Amino acid sequence: MVRGLERYEAINHGEAIAKFQIAKRIPAEKAEKFEEKLEIHDKLKKELKSKLNEDFSFLKEKPAEYSFLHLKRDILYEMLRNCNFCERRCEVNRYEKKGFCKCGVFSHFSSEFLHMGEEPELIPSHTIFFNRCTFACVFCQNYDIVYSDDLLADAKDLAYIVDKRYRQGSRNLNLVGGNPDQHAHTIVEILLNVNSNVPIVWNSNMYHSVELANVIEDIVDVWLGDFKYGNNKCALRYSKVPRYLEVVQRNFLRAKENGELLIRHLVMPSHLECCTEKIVDWVAENLGRDVRFNLMFQYYPTFKAYEYPEIARRLSVEEMKQAYAIASKKLTNLV
Ligand code: SF4
Repeated sequence: MVRGLERYEAINHGEAIAKFQIAKRIPAEKAEKFEEKLEIHDKLKKELKSKLNEDFSFLKEKPAEYSFLHLKRDILYEMLRNCNFCERRCEVNRYEKKGFCKCGVFSHFSSEFLHMGEEPELIPSHTIFFNRCTFACVFCQNYDIVYSDDLLADAKDLAYIVDKRYRQGSRNLNLVGGNPDQHAHTIVEILLNVNSNVPIVWNSNMYHSVELANVIEDIVDVWLGDFKYGNNKCALRYSKVPRYLEVVQRNFLRAKENGELLIRHLVMPSHLECCTEKIVDWVAENLGRDVRFNLMFQYYPTFKAYEYPEIARRLSVEEMKQAYAIASKKLTNLV
């Protein structure tokens, strides 16, 4: 049993129910106005919380004709008219225009497969790599995915594939990219058509808005969140992201209250003091020393990283040792 991921593992063992499957079985009232939808939504959040420990037999109940999950989908499609899915808050109407992430109303993905290279507790992980991102990291290791639109994401087709991958042994549905946030509406639409009791892993940069968190936290079982930077200056320089620290710290705290956490930190060359150390200190103090934490050493310079001499190299062995010493001194549940 992995500490901090007990509910996730219980879902894997057929002893607990993935949140979205619970949301599908909570009937919702239909409403015309956006504000009314939000009011109903906020009442149903409490009901979902009270059902998190329902007996597994709850899954035998038929999904509601119009459920909490349908309501979430409808709210997200309305939010697209003035997009505030992430803290860029472009406020564009995505039915007509594109914001920073260059996503309209349709979502695209690059590939999906059973990923065997994730953390041991996740594999085999059914990973869907969505296109586009809300960040613009100069060292992006997935830039081929991020700056193109590959395959149109058809909700019914992808749901069929999610169920098929579950039968093939997937332990979770791992939504990534790029980043999943800008595709939240499509993801909920997919889940409306998924039958498997598969836990949902939101593999994200943790830069989503409070408004998006309010909707998706009831369907996310595990927040697989990147903690990239320990200060705003590095975030702005390498990912072109304003107010990084306040946003991700707020989101990690909220995620801890509303799901289980697995944090990833990609150690970067020359960034041990300003980033790794600061992140580890904050995490230990605010999320707990025993939070599941993956210290990653696979940084390599790619994309535009060569324009930034301090990150235009791999980590040295000494940096890896130092990073491990920093993390293991404060954190007790390293991957
Ligand atoms: S998801 Fe974020 S980056 Fe994309 S349009 Fe919406 S607010 Fe802008």
